[in-house]
Amino acid sequence: MSDRPYHLIPAVSKVLALPEIAAASARFGHEAVATAVRDEVDQLRAVVTAGQALGDERLTPNALATRVLARLADAAIPTVRPVINATGIILHTNLGRSPVHETAALAAYEAARGYLNLEMDLATGSRSSRQDGIRAGIQALTGAESATAVNNCAAATVIVLRTLAQGKEVIVSRGQLIEIGGSFRIPDIMATSGAILREVGTTNITRARDYETAIGPNTGLIMRIHASNFRVSGFTQSVGIDELVAIGKRCQIPVVDDVGSGLAVDLSAFGLTGEPLVSDGIRAGADLVMFSGDKLLGGPQAGIIAGRASLIQRIERDPLMRAFRLDKMTLAALEATLRLYRDPARAVREIPTLRSISTPVSALRERCERLAGRLRDIEALASVTVRDDTTYVGGGSLPDQALPTVVVALVARHLGETAFSTRLRSGTPAVVGRVKDQEVLLDLRTVFDRQEDDLVAAIRAAAASHPVTP
Ligand SMILES: *Cc1c(COP(=O)(O)O)cnc(C)c1O
Repeated sequence: MSDRPYHLIPAVSKVLALPEIAAASARFGHEAVATAVRDEVDQLRAVVTAGQALGDERLTPNALATRVLARLADAAIPTVRPVINATGIILHTNLGRSPVHETAALAAYEAARGYLNLEMDLATGSRSSRQDGIRAGIQALTGAESATAVNNCAAATVIVLRTLAQGKEVIVSRGQLIEIGGSFRIPDIMATSGAILREVGTTNITRARDYETAIGPNTGLIMRIHASNFRVSGFTQSVGIDELVAIGKRCQIPVVDDVGSGLAVDLSAFGLTGEPLVSDGIRAGADLVMFSGDKLLGGPQAGIIAGRASLIQRIERDPLMRAFRLDKMTLAALEATLRLYRDPARAVREIPTLRSISTPVSALRERCERLAGRLRDIEALASVTVRDDTTYVGGGSLPDQALPTVVVALVARHLGETAFSTRLRSGTPAVVGRVKDQEVLLDLRTVFDRQEDDLVAAIRAAAASHPVTP
């Protein structure tokens, strides 16, 4: 053992004394620099212990300093950081679903960095509800008597079931016992909430009579869940919200409509069809409607509950509300998002999610051609092609809502498509595209205009034959 050349490894104190390492302390802090040096030296010791040869070039002060600085730079990159979404998938769950409008982002920023009247009526100085700011906006959007919001639609489902149906039966069609993704399964949520699931009908057929015959003395709720992430086709039948409301009225059972994606303006002109509007359920007479804030509403993550004031009051009094309530940043961003819907045409034009959906193919093609023109100057790209393709709204909510789109297809000269896309993902900013048939496809439907210069630079760096970072 003792014949191993440990003495060749520089002492930690020697490395710390190197001028470029000493200078790094000012930027990264002395503790972080010392840790990086120790880790680097430990790694060299491990190489020696394993009996492997240490190349002389690894032991020069310069080489050591370079590796220590690379370690520090790596560690300084935040784990969660901005990504250019060039997948074309508009509500990409892994990329944070909906980006919010600039005014919503600024509202969250101001809320984060200061104090605000979160629960204070500034006119009287007395305590107010943090939900007041968003209540009016949701009322305007849905036509509901009252509204409240929690952390996400899963939480909204739990608190609604708990408040209105704990220990009671909730009647749901077998065709709607879905899993949304991320282990959110309706039967499990029922169990968590203390409600008793009463399944009716079959996977493909549920009739009004199935609901009626299931109603008994212990029925707490009739619930409809919009099966947003799958389709049953062929021999099928389900009961519409109007008919469920009629049954509920007749038997004095509240009816809850989980519409999921939170579409607030009609987007059928842009190819988005078959999604219920958040106002549909309320207009039909449902007692409560629930939807997400960060799907088609285009706001921050939230679960919105709209409907009868007496039920909203009961929900807000539930002890779980304290655990599920929104924080000040989200409330500020949600209120700003709802405000944009006062002018629905502006909402479609400006809210990023709605803008992505409503951008015409002709405009996308123009942008792609312009980008392709800039990319053709990059020597390390073997080919740059603009072509028509298909994308999806996505978000685990509308995975089969296809939209026509245009992509820029790239082939790198020195890298295979997998290596190229990995390099794109690990760059700064990270770029996530799609790999298909030996090409990397970049879809500008989900790329903001302001990101295009960064996108070009990221592609240039990723396609280069030499490594970007040491
Ligand atoms: C997405 C979805 C949910 C879950 O919403 P989160 O905000 O992600 O918790 C619940 N129900 C339906 C129908 C959905 O589409």
